[in-house]
Amino acid sequence: MSTSTTTSRTLWNRYRAVPIVYRIGAAFVLGSLVGLIVGEPATALQPLGDLFVRLLSMIVIPIVVFTLIMGVRQLAPSTLGKVGGQVVALYAITSTIAVAIGLVIANLIDPGEGLTLTEAEFDTAEAPGFVEVFLGIVPENPIGAMANGDVLPTIFFALVFGLALTILREESHDETVRDGVESIFNIMEAGAEALFKIVWGIMEYGVIGVFALMAAVFGEAGTDALVPFALLILALLIAVTIHITVVYLGAMIAVLARQSPGAFLVGSKEAMITALSIRSSSGTLPVTMSNADENLRINEGIYGFSLPLGATINMDGTAMYQGVAAVFAANLVGVSLSLGEQVTVVAIAVLASIGSAGVPGTGLIMLTLVLTQLGLPLEVVGFVAGVDPILDRLRTMTNITGDLAVATLVGHWNGAVDFGAGVWDGATAGVTADD
Ligand code: ASP
Repeated sequence: MSTSTTTSRTLWNRYRAVPIVYRIGAAFVLGSLVGLIVGEPATALQPLGDLFVRLLSMIVIPIVVFTLIMGVRQLAPSTLGKVGGQVVALYAITSTIAVAIGLVIANLIDPGEGLTLTEAEFDTAEAPGFVEVFLGIVPENPIGAMANGDVLPTIFFALVFGLALTILREESHDETVRDGVESIFNIMEAGAEALFKIVWGIMEYGVIGVFALMAAVFGEAGTDALVPFALLILALLIAVTIHITVVYLGAMIAVLARQSPGAFLVGSKEAMITALSIRSSSGTLPVTMSNADENLRINEGIYGFSLPLGATINMDGTAMYQGVAAVFAANLVGVSLSLGEQVTVVAIAVLASIGSAGVPGTGLIMLTLVLTQLGLPLEVVGFVAGVDPILDRLRTMTNITGDLAVATLVGHWNGAVDFGAGVWDGATAGVTADD
C-alpha cells in the first residue's frame, strides 16, 4: 500500500473517530462563516443542503410505520390509552408554558420598539381549520396518506393496524394467523433497525449538507439584514433557553424523572443539531427516533407513538414564537397588548400548533392567525419573513427537544426507559454524562 493511501486512510479514520455531532457542529459554524464571508455566491451550495433534507424526508414515513407497528406489539391497548393521555396532556401544558415565557420575555425586552413597518412580499398560506384537522387524522386512503408524507393519518392507520395485529395474536384460534402476526412484527423490527442504520449513513452526509445549508442561508441574508431584528432574535433565544433549561431539563428530567439533565442533552444532541440545521421537526424525526432508541433508551412502544405525534402537534418553540412575535408586531405599530389579548395569544398559539405540520416556516403561517385575531397588520409577517430562516431554527430545535423530554418522562412514568444503559449509564441527576 502506498504511503499516500495509508495517510489518507489514517486521516479518514481520524475524521470518523470524531463523534458525528461535533463534525456537524463544526460544519454548522464553518458554513455560517463561509456564507457571511462569501455572500451571495454561497447560495450556489443550496442543492447540497437540499440533498440532506431530501435524504431525511425519504425515510420519515417508513420509519414512522415500522417503529409504530413494532411499538404497539409491546403495549396493551389499555396502556396505550394511558400513555396517549399523558403524552397529549404534557404536550398541551408545556406549549402553554412556552407561550407564557415568550410573552414575558418579549414584554421585558420589547423587540420592535423604534422600528417602523415596511411592506414586504409574503404569500400567506391558509392555516387549516380545526374540523379539517380532526377529520384529516383519518386517512381516506392510507397508502395515499403515506405517499403524500402526511404524518398524522399515517400514525392513525399504523396504530389501528398494529392494534388489530395484537388483538389477532391474542384471539385467533388459527396458528397460521398467529405465526403470521409474529412474522409481521419481526419484519417491522428488522425494518426499523435497517432504517436506523440508514439514519446514521445520512448523518455522515449531513456534515456536507449542513455546511451547505448554513452557507446558503447566511450568503443570502448577510449580517446587515439581521441588525433591525437583533432584539427579536435575542428575545426568542432567551425564551428558548429558559424553556429548555427550566421546563425540560429542570422540571421534567431532573425533578420529575429524577435523571441527569446533562445525560438527556447528550442523548438528544444529534436531533437538536439536525433540527437547527434543517428547520423541520418532521424531517428531523428519523434522527429524533434514533436518539430516543439508541441513546435515551426509551421503549419503542412509547417513542414510536409519541415522537411522530409530537413532530406534528407539539411545537413549544413555534407556540412561544407567537408570543414574542405578537409583542414585536404590536410595538411596530405602536400599540401595547392588554392582558386579555395576551391570553388570546396563548390560546391561539397552543391550538394552532396542533394543526400545523412540522415543516420549515409553519410558525410564520400561524402568525397570520395570531395577528388577525389581535387586529394587527399582516404585513408584519412579510417584515419578519426575511429573518425567519434564523428564528425557525431556534423554534424547531425547541420543538423536538420538547418531544424527547415528554417521551423520556412518559417512559419513566411507565417503566419504559432503560436508565441503566445508553447515555444514562453512570450518570446521576445533575451530572453530565460523557459522550
Ligand atoms: N419549522 C418548525 C418545525 O418544523 C415549525 C415552525 O415553523 O415553527 O417544527
